[in-house]
Amino acid sequence: MERLVTIPASGRPRRSWPGFVLCLFWLWLGSAHAATPLNGAWREVHAGDTPQTVLDEYHNGLLQSFNPSLLERFPHGAKGSWVVIAPQPPWDDSARMLTIYPPPLSNVTVYAHDQPQTLALDDFLAPTHGHGRLAWRVPDDQAASQPILLKFEPAETLSAPVSFSLLPWNDYLQQDAQWLVFASACFAVMLAMVLMALCFALMLRDITYAWYAGYIVCYALIQGIQTGFLFHPLEWAWLSGMIVTVGSAAVALSVSFAALFMMRFCELQRHAPLLRVPIVALSIGMIQLVLMRCSHVPLLIAAAQALLNPLLMIGAALLLTAAIIAAARGSRQAWFFLASWTPLLLLTAMSSAQVNGALPELDWLNDASLAGGAFEAVMLSLGLADRALRLRHDRDIVRVLADHDALTNVLNRRAWSERAGALLASTPSRPIALLFLDLDHFKLLNDYQGHNTGDRALVAVAKSLVAELRPSDLLGRYGGEEFVALLDGASPQQAMQVATRLCRRIHRLEIPVTEDAQLLSISIGIAMHQGSDDVESLVERADQAMYDAKLNGRNRVSLYAGGKLANVSSRRLLHVVETRERNH
Ligand code: GH3
Ligand code: MG
Ligand code: MG
Repeated sequence: MERLVTIPASGRPRRSWPGFVLCLFWLWLGSAHAATPLNGAWREVHAGDTPQTVLDEYHNGLLQSFNPSLLERFPHGAKGSWVVIAPQPPWDDSARMLTIYPPPLSNVTVYAHDQPQTLALDDFLAPTHGHGRLAWRVPDDQAASQPILLKFEPAETLSAPVSFSLLPWNDYLQQDAQWLVFASACFAVMLAMVLMALCFALMLRDITYAWYAGYIVCYALIQGIQTGFLFHPLEWAWLSGMIVTVGSAAVALSVSFAALFMMRFCELQRHAPLLRVPIVALSIGMIQLVLMRCSHVPLLIAAAQALLNPLLMIGAALLLTAAIIAAARGSRQAWFFLASWTPLLLLTAMSSAQVNGALPELDWLNDASLAGGAFEAVMLSLGLADRALRLRHDRDIVRVLADHDALTNVLNRRAWSERAGALLASTPSRPIALLFLDLDHFKLLNDYQGHNTGDRALVAVAKSLVAELRPSDLLGRYGGEEFVALLDGASPQQAMQVATRLCRRIHRLEIPVTEDAQLLSISIGIAMHQGSDDVESLVERADQAMYDAKLNGRNRVSLYAGGKLANVSSRRLLHVVETRERNH
């Protein structure tokens, strides 16, 4: 007995909140559509069926009824299924379109005036195509109340549930355009992210970006096939006859790329090293499936088809577990991965449930999966940007560590020499003075006070030098208890003043060297930069001047000038400087 189903006037089912969000999107794009209320009935095809016998059975209420506005699954198995769509009052005689959403990958035959007409995604010659759905224009001379007979042809793909709608021509065109805008935007976002990732992969030589790009391309390909976007509007005619092969290959490869990407992105080597082996195995296994699916050996193709879904489920569980573990162990990127991937995983799980007859009212899942792909691409890009930021931060820290002396935190010899060399190579016209500083009797301090006290003294000396010099002066630790300072723009006189201040400041630290009253002091040699100087020659002259200061009693400054050495004790020089300043 035919079961009558009451359908709301809009012909659309009730929606839950994610559907509501999509509804808002549609409303933003345009107005609501006035679809004709429909009744539906179906049964599997039997041998000897004719369109007329099926219609007679329908009129006698012998077919199984269903609500065409809800998702319904028809077996595509051995011979396919008959479906009758019956428009209900108020009837509309104007031009109208019957749409089947989402578009089935198998063919659908429509019997109008007993003339069969095939609707197929890969029919590139048909005068009108639905976008994101199959569409058929009801002939103008067909009575508005006349039931429409369809046959879902047998197919090797799993039959996904579909819903039906009968729309006035203008509403159909408007809905079609809206869907095209929506789908184009989603694909554009995904492809923009892919292009960006490929550029980054090439520029940064980081394969993580390439795996990401591969994953998003495969996902876009899957969505392009499922929504029919690759057929209309893109008209990829070469795909016809290859939908199943290309679709399965894209699904398997997407898991493979996702596994390789997440392994590097979530730093599994650090956070979940044990899971790397099964994830690599999953990725290789998926590539193996693609090869089997593309082979021309029927046994291998059947095996690949049988293994695909179980492996997909195992893979999803594995990647989810790995991401959760990595996130719990402190991987920031794992959170990005979970936030972007979990919604898609949920949508996939819900779509699988729909294939088994659950959730018939959720007709927005397909569009949500498309939007979810764009969302995921953007989220993962943000995650990649965050990762690049973190790597740059780590690199900056490493550079600081590499350039600075661990004990005193001033520049080490290599970094100082590099920077001093760069300054001298810039051939400045202003004078440059180099101070070579060597602590006096430091070995004695170590011997009497211990190495740790020696270390603390070195730190205190370095701090005093930093405090006394200008930030622009280039200070470095040249060796054990030897420091160098390059004073840009300092005349010999100014260099002598600075060096004297340094001598006094170190002495004022009052660090005892031995047990008697001897305090730590420093001897400083100064050399002025000459045209042909490089760092070595300048340091060598300053070193000679420093030895002169040592020979003349330590705790003093010696200036190397024109091949002559002039040294002065810090006390005497200070007196000279103070007198000069008073006279000024
Ligand atoms: P002079 O007045 O002639 O310069 O005598 P000196 O004892 O300072 O010179 P010398 O070159 O004989 O000894 C330098 C000492 O500095 C030897 C070494 O043990 C000490 N030293 C070098 N690096 C460090 C360090 O990082 N920590 C400590 N505590 N001592 C160091
Ligand atoms: Mg020394
Ligand atoms: Mg010394």
